Amino acid sequence: MQEAKYDIAIVGGGIVGLAIAYQIQREFPKLNLIILEKEKELAFHQTGRNSGVIHSGLYYKPNSLKAKNCVKGRKQLVQFAKENNIKHDICGKIVLALNKREATELETLKKNGEQNGLENLQILTPLQFKNIEPNAEGVAALWVPQSGIIDYKEVSNKFAELIKQLNPKSKIALNCEVLDIEDGLLFSTKGKLKVEHTIFCGGLFSDRLAKKDKVKLDIQIVGFRGDYFQLSNQAKCKVNNLIYPVPNPEFPFLGIHFTRMMNGEIECGPNAVFTFKREGYKKTDFSWEDSFQALSFSGTWRLFINHWKFGLNEYRRAFSKALFLKELQKMIPTLKMEDIIEGRSGVRAMALGIDGEVIDDFRIVQNKNNLHVLNAPSPAATACLAIGDQIMEKSRIYFNLK
Ligand SMILES: Cc1cc2nc3c(=O)[nH]c(=O)nc-3n(C[C@H](O)[C@H](O)[C@H](O)COP(=O)(O)OP(=O)(O)OC[C@H]3O[C@@H](n4cnc5c(N)ncnc54)[C@H](O)[C@@H]3O)c2cc1C
Repeated sequence: MQEAKYDIAIVGGGIVGLAIAYQIQREFPKLNLIILEKEKELAFHQTGRNSGVIHSGLYYKPNSLKAKNCVKGRKQLVQFAKENNIKHDICGKIVLALNKREATELETLKKNGEQNGLENLQILTPLQFKNIEPNAEGVAALWVPQSGIIDYKEVSNKFAELIKQLNPKSKIALNCEVLDIEDGLLFSTKGKLKVEHTIFCGGLFSDRLAKKDKVKLDIQIVGFRGDYFQLSNQAKCKVNNLIYPVPNPEFPFLGIHFTRMMNGEIECGPNAVFTFKREGYKKTDFSWEDSFQALSFSGTWRLFINHWKFGLNEYRRAFSKALFLKELQKMIPTLKMEDIIEGRSGVRAMALGIDGEVIDDFRIVQNKNNLHVLNAPSPAATACLAIGDQIMEKSRIYFNLK
């Protein structure tokens, strides 16, 4: 790849980078694109380790980028899956209220969802929700018919295939880490690359890539690992589709839930614990650089101090199967210790401000000839095509694409 020249480079072969590349390539088939991915395969990090849920747009603040992109992106994703024979299932989900207080919160959630354009949301009595999930226990539930499941790795690989079909000169370079950036030049582990424009979609490393491009940052990415358990073959019959708790208003994107995956497994999780390595999937994984950077950032400490009780509970659950089970039993009381088996884990790229606030909305910034997707948390997989559209429009203006 020595001294190769491309119109646009996309750094990061997760679903966001690939969806952006696909949308640009579809609109401008003559442009030569290159996608640079440091791993040996696409969608190796957040995209390949998520819950596989097609989110409806229920929770997000009306008019936020998240709400708009989730609702629009969900429809685009389902259409894309249908057109390309990607297996998916719009099975719907229930949000389960365990007490009266949570039941009143369901009303607020319903209104929020309706403001985001969701139709046919329905508050169900126990008798009604037991028709959908017979083993769930609670005082009421919200039925969300738009939610579904899909394999985001499969979607990512399909984007890659279509990019190559649209322009055989475009390239997907694996095992290719971007090390440094200078005006119009990318230095990678596979050599130097001349590019007109670069779009950075580095997920857990979006802040470090932005710093290399001399973007002034007021946020930092901190990794939060999420561990999953899965139901044993005997216990799988206890969950049909998707069962979610009423979200904690402070952390609406968290909360252990039950998910049927496209491969037929039923997963329960993820929790959220601070991790000492951004791409560390084991409890003992450690990186000096990642730990130092996270722990020398005031936002991390403010988050810890402001939410120490929540964090402590998450930590205890990460090391105790019994406590994890207890949390799950709140929704399905008949679950037993032997019903849950330790499963995989993923790490969320959480963008924190210096005051410890979690940056909730998607964040995209322009820097000279480049664009940076700085924050693309959940539901970015659901919303990938809408984010792709948005970046394509920005590129059309900033990069003067024709
Ligand atoms: C546990 C978990 C559960 C989730 N559940 C859902 C869900 O059910 N539904 C949903 O919609 N969303 C969900 N999300 C969120 C969703 O997965 C992410 O928002 C989305 O995958 C982000 O995609 P990305 O492309 O930005 O990041 P990633 O998938 O992390 O991709 C970034 C890529 O950039 C590469 N990279 C980084 N630095 C460099 C470099 N210097 N050079 C070259 N390559 C580089 C990385 O190797 C990586 O492949 C979940 C996330 C997690 C972690």
